Amino acid sequence: MGSRAQQAEAVVLRSLRFGEADRILHLFTKELGRVGAIAKGARKTRSRFGARLEPFSHVEIQLHVGRGELATVTGVDLVRSHQALAADPYRLAVGSIGLEAVLKLFIDHDPSPRAFHALVRFLDLLDDGGQPDPSGPDPALDPLALSLQLKLLWLAGYLPHLSSCAACGREGPLTAFSARAGGAVCAACGEGALPASAAAFLGMRALLEQPLAGARPAGLGASARRETLAIVEAVYAEHGGFRLRTLARR
Ligand SMILES: [Zn+2]
Repeated sequence: MGSRAQQAEAVVLRSLRFGEADRILHLFTKELGRVGAIAKGARKTRSRFGARLEPFSHVEIQLHVGRGELATVTGVDLVRSHQALAADPYRLAVGSIGLEAVLKLFIDHDPSPRAFHALVRFLDLLDDGGQPDPSGPDPALDPLALSLQLKLLWLAGYLPHLSSCAACGREGPLTAFSARAGGAVCAACGEGALPASAAAFLGMRALLEQPLAGARPAGLGASARRETLAIVEAVYAEHGGFRLRTLARR
């Protein structure tokens, strides 16, 4: 592959100090999927990139994509900084879950424009403030965070099967979740699986089918949200072999 210039719409997932003045970025772009990039001189006070490469920033970025693993940032225009969300600890924690889920679920140079749009919509809603979360102080149980993660699992091809028993096909009642079987299971197939209520399965389907903006008004109960989170984490472990640090922090 020769080197080339590439214009991309991107969200900054992670920004790490590198050397004297540079930054290494993990970007999620609409055009290329996840991309690693270096912004040379980004930490100099008079950098031409200014403060536009902070995590959560939605940018139009110019990249030089070469043979190496890292692209080089040659220019950046800010679309929206999302710094209102970053200034509030609760919304910062919810937003960080979204960024890490994207970082772990999608691989380099495998674009998913729908996942990109979902991430931008999620950050815009968080940045706007929106309805206060009725559930209390645990960001991991925030319905918006759960809704984004379920949609990302679907877009990444890990959609759990929720409408009938994933092991035997019976319609129900569904009483547990088996990440290995790939979804909800009935009592007969549920040995060793994660117990889960009908309310949790209904809630997960609603979060998957509704737009992100509907996640909070949907008012999923606290116990159904805890079950949903346990299921999402089980799918990460089974299919991705990872845990999210932002969820483990609790
Ligand atoms: Zn079954």
